Amino acid sequence: MFFIVWGSRGRNKEIGAGEFYCPDCGDYRAYKKIAVTRWFTLYWIPLFPMGKPVGEYVECGACKSTFNERVLEMDPKAAAEKFEAAFSIAAKRVMFKMALADGEIDQSEIDTITQAFANIAKREIDPADIAAELEAAKSDTRPVAEYLRGVAAGMNDTGKELVLRSAIAVAKADGHIDDTEVVEMHELAFALDFPKAYANGIFMEEGIQPITKQRG
Ligand SMILES: [Zn+2]
Repeated sequence: MFFIVWGSRGRNKEIGAGEFYCPDCGDYRAYKKIAVTRWFTLYWIPLFPMGKPVGEYVECGACKSTFNERVLEMDPKAAAEKFEAAFSIAAKRVMFKMALADGEIDQSEIDTITQAFANIAKREIDPADIAAELEAAKSDTRPVAEYLRGVAAGMNDTGKELVLRSAIAVAKADGHIDDTEVVEMHELAFALDFPKAYANGIFMEEGIQPITKQRG
């Protein structure tokens, strides 16, 4: 008997390469992007591709795990950096607004901001930036909830507490806390989406009047 043995099989072709964040390795690795095309075979020999690639995948050069190509859009480091930048801008603005809440700003408040910013952003605030930041905070008339929008949601409780405590430290820096500052701090706690009991725990610890009104 005479048989013509024909069939098809997948063939892989490298169509790209680069560096990506491999979720399995948990770090940045080299990758290959592979396209799979079905080939017509005769006597097991691939003769020609049958149409377009049937699929594409990304393979990690280190652990050889394969992923959907959407894995290339993941970049936790860049996302974290972007968040850090937004977070420090918002935290800085919060502190300058707090310093301005009683209508005046003095050196002790500026020193506290400088120190708190170093704690939050892990870098020094440029002294040349202070005057500019102060002017920017003065002309920023948005409510605190607005300039924290998009940042508060990404913050964990530790980050929120850090921002709130920094604001409290700034308010206390000139030796007294007035009613405007208390109102600002309560607004800030709302804007950070702090559970009331949590925020009041911090306020009471810091000797600040707790929130009594309902949110809204
Ligand atoms: Zn890997």
